[in-house]
Parts: sequence; C-alpha cells; structure tokens
Amino acid sequence: MTHPFLDLAPLSAAHFASIEDRVARLLSTEQDVVITQGEALLPLEGAIRGTAGPGTTALNVITGPYGQTFGDWLRDCGATVIDIAVTFHTAVTAAQVRAAFAEHPSIDFVSLVHAEAATGNTNPVAEIGEVVREHGALFYLDAVASIGAEPVLPDAWGVDLCVIGAQKAMGGPAGVSAVSVSERAWARMAANPGAPRRSYLSLLDWKERWVDGGRKALLHAPAQLEMLALEACVERIEGEGLDAVMDRHASAAAATRAGAVALGGGLEPFVHRAGDAAPVATTLRVPAGADATVLVARALAADPVLPLAAGGGALAKEMIRVNHYGPDATRDVVHSCLAAVGAALAESGHAVDLEGARRAVTEAWGGRG
Ligand SMILES: *Cc1c(COP(=O)(O)O)cnc(C)c1O
Repeated sequence: MTHPFLDLAPLSAAHFASIEDRVARLLSTEQDVVITQGEALLPLEGAIRGTAGPGTTALNVITGPYGQTFGDWLRDCGATVIDIAVTFHTAVTAAQVRAAFAEHPSIDFVSLVHAEAATGNTNPVAEIGEVVREHGALFYLDAVASIGAEPVLPDAWGVDLCVIGAQKAMGGPAGVSAVSVSERAWARMAANPGAPRRSYLSLLDWKERWVDGGRKALLHAPAQLEMLALEACVERIEGEGLDAVMDRHASAAAATRAGAVALGGGLEPFVHRAGDAAPVATTLRVPAGADATVLVARALAADPVLPLAAGGGALAKEMIRVNHYGPDATRDVVHSCLAAVGAALAESGHAVDLEGARRAVTEAWGGRG
C-alpha cells in the first residue's frame, strides 16, 4: 500500500524551479531566488557568511533577539560590527541609520530584521533602504516574520539579500526557506575568499551549480515533503490573494491591540506606537505584579490550541505574545485569545471588561474594511 508521505514520485528540477518562481512572484522580485532546504536560520547564516569578511564594516540593527545573533555571526566572520540597538517597544528609524553612516562612513553592509515576531515591532525598511542605497552598502534583510503579513519588496527597497521562511504568516512549513540575491550580493560573495563553498551554508554552490546552469540539475536530493508543502502554501496564498492575506494580518493586529486596551486590567500593547507594531503578531505588557508565564499557562490550560506564548528569555514575566499569523489571523482567534487572557487576568484579581474587549475587536476588525 502506498503511503502519502513516504512513497512520493521524485521531485524534478523543473518542478523545484517552478516553486522558486512562485516564491519570486510573492516577493515581486527579478533577483535570483534560491530555496534553501532548512529552517530560515540556514539562509540567514549562509548569506552573512557568504558576504561578510575581515574587510567588512557592518551596521547591525538590533530590534529583537535575531539582530543579536546576526552580530555574532558577523563578528565570527571577522567583520567590524557597529551595533545599534533600540528598545524592544519601538522601531528603528531611517534617521538613526543615517546618523550611523555619518559617524562610520566605512559601513558597507547593513543587517536588519523587518518584523520581529518575538517583540512585535516592525521596521520602516523602504525608508532605511533609501539611506543604505545612498551609501552603496549591501542590504541584508530578515523578512521571515513579515512575508505574508505586510509588503516585502526587495527590488523596490534595494534589498540585496532578503530571507524568508514559510512558517509564520505564509502558514506553511518550517523546514524550508528562501533568499533573494541581487547581482551585487553575488559579486560580493564571489570576491569573498571566506565565503562557504562545498558547504550546506553555501549560496555560491547554488549560484554556480544551479542558477548559472539554467536550473537543470539539483545539487542534492530535494526535501520533497517540505517542497510540496511550500508549493501548497504558496498556492493557497495565491488562491486567497496576497493582499487579502496581508489584510487579514493587519486586521488581526489592529483588533488585538484595540481589544487589549478595551480589556483593561492593566494590560497594554507592548509596542507603544501602533505604526511600529508588526501585523504578524501582537505583544502585550502584563500589569505590574502579574506574571505573563503564569497567565499564558492558565489561558492555555483552558484552551490549548490558542496561539499564545509568554515572551522569550528576559521578557518571560512581562510579555504575552499573541501569534495571530497564518491560519490564526482570524477574528475568532483574536476573540478567543483575548477572552482567555481576560479570564486568566480576572482569576488573579484584575478587573477586566470582557464584553468591551469583544466589542473593540469586532469594531477594529470591521473598521479596517
Ligand atoms: C520566526 C523568525 C525566524 C525563524 O525562527 P523560528 O524560531 O525557527 O521560527 C527568523 N527571524 C525572525 C525575525 C523570526 O521572527
């Protein structure tokens, strides 16, 4: 008896290339898109190790936990790293990036995370891209948490290395990811003696043996299940329409924010300005004296499928994450999350307005047309 997961027909090079093309269309990009067969950390690390070396001066923008990791990789490559860190309740501004270039004219690489699911902020990539282009630096962007939730436009924004993953707003598999690579970025890699070659981290291997060869022969056996899941996920987005998918995420974020404010009980949006809040996930600050880990555990005990989590690391006590992405970007999920958090707050003696929260969610969702 054939098994639907195990007895698959081989995935041809042409089929693999067609999935790459569909991912490229999601990004509205003419750049080469390379699908990488691993979680997004694979192309995130591969792109840094491919382009950065001892001659690199990198501006590394830290707006959440991933920026920290990128700085570590850059230093490990021998790059001189200038970190700018902003507090997690805000976004970085183009003016801050401009000031960093003025102070350090040798910057020739900029790494930035677009949206941070872990902290709930999103950064103005288009404006920052303008500054990066003016100075001719290479622009590296982690768009894992933004793709599907808000526009990601590497060509229009001058992004040279744009990394995406399917497991957040795309509602797809976690074991496969992609990176779009500009001609400038390929040239930087080709000239970099430290760029990985004959390595799982090597994007150049894919350039030389896959892209330049007209995408006729794969480098190794493809991850069939993951590729088919990626194809299905892109197909589903195309069916709904990318704009509609992004709109669902924007509505979920607006409704969660409005609902949390109306719920009261000392709960507040973690990201101060709505414009800095990411559509992919909404982070909430719990009232003084409450413990987010306890509240989330209580909410999940009542309803284990809700996309709720306490903040990571140092934020575990103070932050609740509402991961309203992918199939969870719906009004019902937002209603259920706030009701569960509200009930957990009420249990620990905080006065909450459950009915008010319900109304605010419905209004904010509808108000977005
Ligand atoms: C989610 C995410 C990733 C991928 O990491 P996972 O924890 O494996 O999902 C990478 N970068 C950012 C900014 C993310 O939000």
